Amino acid sequence: MKALKDRILRDGKCFEGGILKVDNFINHQMDPILMKSMAVEFVRRFASTKINKVLTVEASGIAPAIMVGYLLELPVVFAKKKKPSTMDNMLITTVYSFTKNNNYDVCVSRDYLQPGDKVLFIDDFLANGNAAKGIIDLVNQAGAELVGMGFLIEKSFQHGGDFLRGQGIHVESLAIIESLDNCNIKIKD
Ligand code: 5GP
Repeated sequence: MKALKDRILRDGKCFEGGILKVDNFINHQMDPILMKSMAVEFVRRFASTKINKVLTVEASGIAPAIMVGYLLELPVVFAKKKKPSTMDNMLITTVYSFTKNNNYDVCVSRDYLQPGDKVLFIDDFLANGNAAKGIIDLVNQAGAELVGMGFLIEKSFQHGGDFLRGQGIHVESLAIIESLDNCNIKIKD
């Protein structure tokens, strides 16, 4: 998606270890106009997919997910990174964080992820695919169906996308970063 690619080239910043910072328009300050355009693009790309629920992970997936849910007029559920003390009936999985180099639990209530749900997962980044694998586990535990995964930015050199597509999952990424070598941002045409 051209507007996103242009913005990454203009405002994205590279960090050691293959990390791209987009704090200027996605991860800290947010650009709602771009966010809306990206959601419109997801709606277009998943137009032939039957969806009844949008799922994401807190915190940075919530903004794009709520935009998609708003446009599709569907509920949006965000998986939580800390198990709430007042909630039982939770589905839990463990995810390895590449950016933080630790494991964390991700959970969602069985009340909001149910057998028969047709789930579109939306997140900001796809890197090694660990968060996505956790989501697949939660959707499977719930007996729901994962009908697609949409990412604002995929870093193809970390191969999470290869894994997900290899599983037959419909993956859509609005910008694909091929390399961040020498802090040079190379985006797929
Ligand atoms: P994965 O689980 O696919 O390895 O990484 C996905 C998660 O890690 C995303 O939800 C995102 O929060 C974070 N992440 C991975 N790579 C980057 C990056 O280059 N920049 C930022 N801002 N977050 C990243």
